[in-house]
Amino acid sequence: MNQMTRFKPAPNRVDAAMPDDDACWDAFLARDRAMDGRFVGCVATTGIYCKPSCAARHPKRENMAFLPDPAAARAAGYRACLRCHPDAVGRDRLAVAAAIAFIEAAEEAPGWTRSPLMPAMRRIISTACSSARRG
Ligand SMILES: [Zn+2]
Repeated sequence: MNQMTRFKPAPNRVDAAMPDDDACWDAFLARDRAMDGRFVGCVATTGIYCKPSCAARHPKRENMAFLPDPAAARAAGYRACLRCHPDAVGRDRLAVAAAIAFIEAAEEAPGWTRSPLMPAMRRIISTACSSARRG
């Protein structure tokens, strides 16, 4: 048993943002994209952490630990999966939030398609779309 397999969150830990281990495992099995960003799954045998929707083959349940975010996984000695890019989830959400804020502001400004901000808008939407495709 290496150092990573010994790391487990406290059993009675209360964290509203993170589901319990069974729900995390179910989300991994379902590759539930809605759960991306709410926790990461750490695989003790590979030292990798993934977001729930990762398309990689699933490890055995006993080799997985679930942590609230990538920072916690890195602190526990894991590194990010190169397939699902679990560290990009936060950036994706920021890009989408920026796009929504821009659209809401633009709806109140007639002629916004001729706005000098349009190039920025295109960039934001393009980033959000490529993030969504990358999944
Ligand atoms: Zn992954």
